[in-house]
Amino acid sequence: MPGRSPAARFEGTLIRRGDRAYDSARAAAVWNGLKPERFPEVIVRAASERDVAEALSYARSEGMRVSTRSGGHNWSGSQLRDGSLLIDLSGLRQCSIAPGTMTATAGPAATGQDLVRALAPYDLAFPVGHCPSVALGGFLLSGGLGWNSRAWGPSCADVLEIRVVTADGRTLTCSEAENADLFWAARGAGPGFFAVVTRFRLGLHPHPGAIVTTGLTFPLSAAGPVAAWAEGVARELPVNVETAFVLTASGEPTATAPPGPRILLAMTAFATTHDEALAALSPAASCPFADSAVLVRAPEPTSFARLHQGADAAWPSAHRYAADTLWSAETYETQLTRMAAAVAHAPSGKSLVLAPVQPVSEDPALLRNMAFSPLGESYLVCYAVWTDPAADGTNARWLRDAMASADPSGRGGRYIAETDLEADASRARRSYAPADWERLQELKAAWDPENVFHSYLAP
Ligand SMILES: Cc1cc2nc3c(=O)[nH]c(=O)nc-3n(C[C@H](O)[C@H](O)[C@H](O)COP(=O)(O)OP(=O)(O)OC[C@H]3O[C@@H](n4cnc5c(N)ncnc54)[C@H](O)[C@@H]3O)c2cc1C
Repeated sequence: MPGRSPAARFEGTLIRRGDRAYDSARAAAVWNGLKPERFPEVIVRAASERDVAEALSYARSEGMRVSTRSGGHNWSGSQLRDGSLLIDLSGLRQCSIAPGTMTATAGPAATGQDLVRALAPYDLAFPVGHCPSVALGGFLLSGGLGWNSRAWGPSCADVLEIRVVTADGRTLTCSEAENADLFWAARGAGPGFFAVVTRFRLGLHPHPGAIVTTGLTFPLSAAGPVAAWAEGVARELPVNVETAFVLTASGEPTATAPPGPRILLAMTAFATTHDEALAALSPAASCPFADSAVLVRAPEPTSFARLHQGADAAWPSAHRYAADTLWSAETYETQLTRMAAAVAHAPSGKSLVLAPVQPVSEDPALLRNMAFSPLGESYLVCYAVWTDPAADGTNARWLRDAMASADPSGRGGRYIAETDLEADASRARRSYAPADWERLQELKAAWDPENVFHSYLAP
């Protein structure tokens, strides 16, 4: 509308670089305490889907490129781009459940915790991300390795339909039947997606009758043998058992051991009954190294909410982070022996490595029609976690060195949700099977021919 001020176009807020609200809006766009030195020109806090279309129209008219954020959890802060218009979707956080159809409708900024809370009155569940604060937007767009994904598949397998605003300002519905190519891309393209998702419709699962978890903690020096034994066991367990190793630089003291670096073997069963869960977890009790464990946690009932609390403690907010992932053809024994050596010398005691065994279902039916795919036999994520800004360089270098030791050929696969996008120019490409990467490039050219949306962050 001629004569109208740009701010008046929006139900939400338009913030320019230099405005009083700018610094806090820019900082809030990145959950990581380490904020990249990149500065959008304009931030639009969208209050509605219409605001998103309006923001795109304004950006095009001003010749600005566009980036998007939902929960701001991308570790590399790829949502912050110099000179761009940032569409901040944090206001689109509604979440509602339709128990009759076993579906949920959620805004992109709704978090895993929001969804768990909304589902609480019903006997229904969803493979939410492991940490409570992760928003559905970037998580589902990346594929989503959530709780019980070994049984339920990547979380994006449960996306039934999305609403998007495209680069040319159209509002569309996408599903397997409608705009199917954009829907395919929305299930895995992650921070390179070339439209804005304003709403997800999700399929839900019957809530497990019993969630039971158990854990054995060993000195980090036992990482190789423990991983060799546990990988074999974990692969034979029913798919509703999630097994993960966590390597920490500084473990708490226990009744039998002083503080020190540790490897935790955690197993969680999402079963129909408590007895079924106990039976599924029973191999943990016959671990041949149990005598050398410094802590044994007997199987205990838990819930999605309590699993979230545990993860929140390991990945606290207001810390500085650098993260990277690796899919590899190597065994967990090889990879965790390498990572144990790195963790033992981590400059920060808060740093850790997470290595879930077979983190996602291998059932082709749960991996069909999506850009996401698992890319190796073993998988790990390494996190440098620290608080002192003066230690930024040391910790960032430690992460890169640790990951280089796990991937000597430099040809390993990555997971787009948590890879260190600025480590080298091939990070995004290596997050996809070659044919899927080609198709993503073709679809980006078709749906965003003028390159309105920023693509993957690179060095
Ligand atoms: C503490 C923590 C725990 C994590 N745990 C897990 C986990 O268990 N499993 C897992 O798979 N991942 C996990 N991740 C990674 C997480 O899935 C990604 O960081 C994801 O991007 C977070 O979503 P977000 O909406 O907060 O992302 P944002 O940082 O807001 O967005 C990242 C990018 O995604 C794109 N994007 C986001 N929303 C939209 C949208 N609505 N429309 C179009 N594009 C959009 C944009 O390109 C944006 O730049 C974790 C991350 C953190 C920080």
